Amino acid sequence: MLTKAPRGTKDLFGNETLNWRRVEQIIIDLCKNFGFYEIRTPIFEHTELFQRGVGETTDIVQKEMYTFTDKGERSITLKPEGTAGVARAYIEHNMQGEAQPTKLFYITPAFRYERPQAGRMRQFHQFGVEMIGSREASADAEVISLAALLLERLGITKVELHINSLGGPECRKKYNTILKDYLGEHLSELCPTCQERYEKNPLRALDCKVDTCQAIVKQAPSTIDALGEECKAHFEQLKDLLTEMNIPFVVDPGIVRGLDYYTRTVFEFISKDIGSQGTVCGGGRYDGLIEECGGKPTPAVGFAIGIERLLMVMEAEQGPYQHPVQRDLFIGAIGDQAMIKAHGLIYQLRKVGISAEGDHLDRSVRAQMKYANKIGASYSFILGDEELKVQKVALKNMDTGEQEEVELSKLVETMKQKIEA
Ligand code: ATP
Ligand code: MG
Repeated sequence: MLTKAPRGTKDLFGNETLNWRRVEQIIIDLCKNFGFYEIRTPIFEHTELFQRGVGETTDIVQKEMYTFTDKGERSITLKPEGTAGVARAYIEHNMQGEAQPTKLFYITPAFRYERPQAGRMRQFHQFGVEMIGSREASADAEVISLAALLLERLGITKVELHINSLGGPECRKKYNTILKDYLGEHLSELCPTCQERYEKNPLRALDCKVDTCQAIVKQAPSTIDALGEECKAHFEQLKDLLTEMNIPFVVDPGIVRGLDYYTRTVFEFISKDIGSQGTVCGGGRYDGLIEECGGKPTPAVGFAIGIERLLMVMEAEQGPYQHPVQRDLFIGAIGDQAMIKAHGLIYQLRKVGISAEGDHLDRSVRAQMKYANKIGASYSFILGDEELKVQKVALKNMDTGEQEEVELSKLVETMKQKIEA
């Protein structure tokens, strides 16, 4: 127990954290380009926010939340997703008073008590965007295009965009009746959970992962056929916008998404390369959410991408990405006086942006050079009594083995030139 991380969690370090930073940087640059600003909401919120904002009938609220009572007897929940917290913050800080729509993005850990497997963790991480305050299909297209361009920038090619429309409350009510009629004919063949869903929220059954249920819901009537005029026009406009943007998509009536608050557009980017947890990105429109969380009726659209799954897709398509281990310069030392001088120089070099490194283990000269190789130093030299006396060192190019004499007073300048070259 003591030396093992909790089930469903993972330490990230070394090459992996470098990969994460690389992906995060691409995300941050892209969001800036699209005019989305970062929001950081707390890791925990009042449990009620998720009950309302995610929905009582969802798997998340019913089975997956990390909920506890704090010392002040409040019910607190670790965020299982990013949208509810953003909705709460939008209301709390009166963001509707600013230029609309409000365009926000987040990168956050999320917590769900699920059975851990490939691409399914108990602590995972999401990058998400929320575009709040517009009901237009152009907003849907904008968030979808952001996700599409991110995948492109990451070099991901084998991911498919699936879109669907659930319609507004009216269409959903109409569809619920149609779906219930259909499911009613197959009630005994459905899994126990779906039998329950049949009563409370039949739409959830479309999302069921049990094979027998999947076979049945595949034949179910489509939500698109139940759309009213306005919702149909909205969906058509979205398709025209995506076509204009040259973003390929397939209309997939099987996409309903796991959260209760979706209206109209829902979409997923799906990979076939990473097994059954293939949904890398899930999103859609949720025009009822802000009101559900206590705000004025405000339309919104957004998505969340699982960063772990994103990295899995990248690795499946491109192979493992190795960041080279590298330092600009290693300064070895023989004797106490040289050691002190060496560390002084190292700090001086670091101040001007040169990644210099020294010895911290009182190694022999041989061992110091071996270490210089291991950390991928481009240059190195050893400082001893003689070098201190003449104030000159033999700077070695670690690739070619060539050496050149450099005056210590010119070291910083010389190294700067070499790094810039
Ligand atoms: P799934 O159907 O795979 O359970 P979901 O519908 O629960 O997904 P969302 O709530 O839409 O997922 O979350 C958005 C994204 O977050 C998912 O598409 C996925 O990439 C990622 N994600 C969700 N749950 C997990 C998890 N337990 N571990 C890792 N990534 C996850
Ligand atoms: Mg899930």
